[in-house]
Amino acid sequence: MSKEVISFNYTLTDKDQKVIDASGEGHPLIFITESGQIIPGLENVLMQMKPAEKKTVTIPSKEAYGAYNQTLVYKVSRSKLPTPQINMGDVFEAGNGKESFPVSVIHIEGDDITLDGNHPLAGQDLTFAVEIVERRIASVDEVAHGHVHGTGGCHH
Ligand SMILES: [Zn+2]
Repeated sequence: MSKEVISFNYTLTDKDQKVIDASGEGHPLIFITESGQIIPGLENVLMQMKPAEKKTVTIPSKEAYGAYNQTLVYKVSRSKLPTPQINMGDVFEAGNGKESFPVSVIHIEGDDITLDGNHPLAGQDLTFAVEIVERRIASVDEVAHGHVHGTGGCHH
């Protein structure tokens, strides 16, 4: 099966119907299928839809950003961080040199800083209102490059 380019509008809300994120007016999100570019649960839904079709779906956390993993929460002392000026919600890069991932500050107690390496949406069931804008077969170049090309081809 050929990979496709799908563009879609979306509004993402949490379980309290609070809007977390949305594509801007006239700026749909565009991705190449089967490339891990969007969460798997949502990709599966979009694959079943036709252009102009609208749908509202709730994606369980395990098909979105995964379960909340308590082992990714840990304490460090303030002196281990790149700056002594720490605020709640600050994001730092953690890692071992080969891989790095963002961690955010979730608790501050004196010089004990608690960091959380979970995705901010981990453990949450996410509701998406989506509308397909366009579906087409991805070009050979797009599949090779792993990104979508605009009119006139590759601009990077
Ligand atoms: Zn390219």
